Amino acid sequence: QAKAGGGNKFQIYTPDMYSNSHKKLFMENALRKSIENNELLLEYQPQVDAKTRQLVGVEALVRWNHPKLGVVSPAEFIPLSEETGFIIPLGEWVLKEACYQNKRWQDAGYPPVKVSVNLSSKQFSQENLADEVNKILEETGLAPEFLDLEITESMMMDVNHSIQVLNELYALGIQISIDDFGTGYSSLNYLKRFSIHRLKIDRTFVQDITNSSKDASIVETIITMAHNLGLGVIAEGVELEEQLEFLVSKNCDEFQGYYISKPLSAYKFEQMFLKNS
Ligand code: C2E
Ligand code: MG
Ligand code: MG
Ligand code: MG
Repeated sequence: QAKAGGGNKFQIYTPDMYSNSHKKLFMENALRKSIENNELLLEYQPQVDAKTRQLVGVEALVRWNHPKLGVVSPAEFIPLSEETGFIIPLGEWVLKEACYQNKRWQDAGYPPVKVSVNLSSKQFSQENLADEVNKILEETGLAPEFLDLEITESMMMDVNHSIQVLNELYALGIQISIDDFGTGYSSLNYLKRFSIHRLKIDRTFVQDITNSSKDASIVETIITMAHNLGLGVIAEGVELEEQLEFLVSKNCDEFQGYYISKPLSAYKFEQMFLKNS
């Protein structure tokens, strides 16, 4: 129990709280060394055309494989990296690795697909983001149209700044998707002002499309709205045939999810998807 206020301030940590804050510190320090120790890796999840099921893209998802902690989920270490600022070097590593990998696949002769990379909010508010992205494209040799950056609604609260950054990114010739669409602070007003290419319908809507008429309406409305605004639309988290059937019947363009594949190592992705595409 912690006693707040009063002259005599003290805190008693339960073993759990102790180990949690201890673990957090441990993770913070370990994370800082993750790049030089080669502990970061990317997994790749296919994105396919909803009608033809042809491979159209791949989302790069970061993993942290620590010798003591094991494989740590990005849900755990991305927020921590945001807190400590480590997200900037981490984000740069992810972007570079994803671009290099995509270029290597193209050089190997596979039909070219776009690679989607998640941005964090600190990266998005970085002063020189477009310059950084451009530098990485030049360094890796990946053509801009094969890079897709995923940003979320919550990163775009500063509308004027976002318009500027998105215009700069757009001018590079890369693609922009709004990830987890519908779960953040959405203002429909920004959709007409932002230079973006596609909306990515959040998994929580897709999950229940076949048993909740409300979720079905929301998904149908997002698809129609995206198309009417000249945007593409991709559904994430598709696990079942019936979900896919619904999405196809509503003209969703692309989808990804366990129904096609979970995220895979670069090697497995190549074997299972690129070799057959
Ligand atoms: P996200 O970008 O929305 O990625 C989708 C998450 O859903 C991934 O989890 C993916 O493995 C999972 N997923 C894909 N298909 C299905 C499905 O059919 N069913 C279910 N239940 N889940 C599915 P993951 O890889 O654990 O990543 C979690 C989140 O961490 C991502 O959500 C993204 O926000 C963040 N993240 C991942 N990699 C990066 C990165 O390189 N940079 C940044 N800033 N964030 C990242
Ligand atoms: Mg994403
Ligand atoms: Mg998402
Ligand atoms: Mg999500």
